[in-house]
Amino acid sequence: ERTVSSQLTDDERGLETALRPQSLQEYVGQPRMKESLEICIEAAKRRGEALDHAIFYGPPGLGKTTIAHIIAREMGSAIRSTSGLVLSHAGDLAAILTNLQERDVLFIDEIHRLPASVEEALYPAMEDYQLDLVIGQGASTRTVKLELPRFTLVGATTRAGALTSPLRDRFGLVHRLEFYTPRELTAIVTRSAGLLHIPIDEAGAAEIARRARGTPRIVNRLIKRIRDYAEIKAQGRITRSVAQEALVWLAVDTAGLDEMDRRIVLTVIEKFNGGPVGVDSLAAAVQEDKGTLEDVYEPYLIQAGFLERTGRGRQATRLAFDHFKKQKDLLSFS
Ligand code: ADP
Repeated sequence: ERTVSSQLTDDERGLETALRPQSLQEYVGQPRMKESLEICIEAAKRRGEALDHAIFYGPPGLGKTTIAHIIAREMGSAIRSTSGLVLSHAGDLAAILTNLQERDVLFIDEIHRLPASVEEALYPAMEDYQLDLVIGQGASTRTVKLELPRFTLVGATTRAGALTSPLRDRFGLVHRLEFYTPRELTAIVTRSAGLLHIPIDEAGAAEIARRARGTPRIVNRLIKRIRDYAEIKAQGRITRSVAQEALVWLAVDTAGLDEMDRRIVLTVIEKFNGGPVGVDSLAAAVQEDKGTLEDVYEPYLIQAGFLERTGRGRQATRLAFDHFKKQKDLLSFS
């Protein structure tokens, strides 16, 4: 059972849409980001202008797409969504941009994956709301300048480090999304359970929150699976003990780590004697893509104190050894 994977099934997409908060007020957590957005949105609205271009970065499932939709809604604008993976030609970008209305939001997920030619076409679009379009072929090739509506580009990325600086510098608003606290996650569990009409008590909600890797998307996945379990085994009601049993069934451990998390930490401990081990060797040993290891798994393992990033590679912490009840030569621990 993979609870962390960023691949969504159609079923899950439906669930995400149903559970997505619709306003800043409904959006749980990320207090600094929300406060800043509230002010900027209000100011832009009073002036009748488009909101500054904004970029959100952080691990998958923390609410980047959600905040893009909320921005559009709070601005009273429409949103067009695309991804750096599908925008392969400057012409595709031109087709989207020329169809926007004033103050609309263009959301580009995985914006670090844009091809260079598309990214370069974005610069004048972001800066001057102009697009240089090359038309014709051979000797008759010419460039026309198109005026664009004043729109807001909202970008999302799991890797801030992969953005080129000319692109990064063109965003007025830059926000990093943080992992959610157990208290915030409990609020999300309660909210989602309410929307899905799942009976749950406070201790049950807190248990799920504690074991959701700080991530709202995982909260929602867990609730749905735990509901199945509760319906078959416990008259449909989620209490702490029902949640605990279901989480064993789902192979989520007491620290909220899933199978891949455990494999990564155990590999560092067992195969590399606790580390340090370079990210390439680690990725090869656990048979996971290096980018996925770095963007999806490591951030939480580091935040939760199981892994450390050192100059010479990844290292398992004391907490990791304790969690897996492994022994290691104490002298080599510093
Ligand atoms: P990302 O784009 O960062 O991968 P999403 O915005 O798609 O993440 O969020 C995944 C799901 O988690 C959403 O569908 C929503 O139900 C839930 N979610 C995300 N952020 C919040 C939040 N701040 N409050 C409540 N639910 C949230």
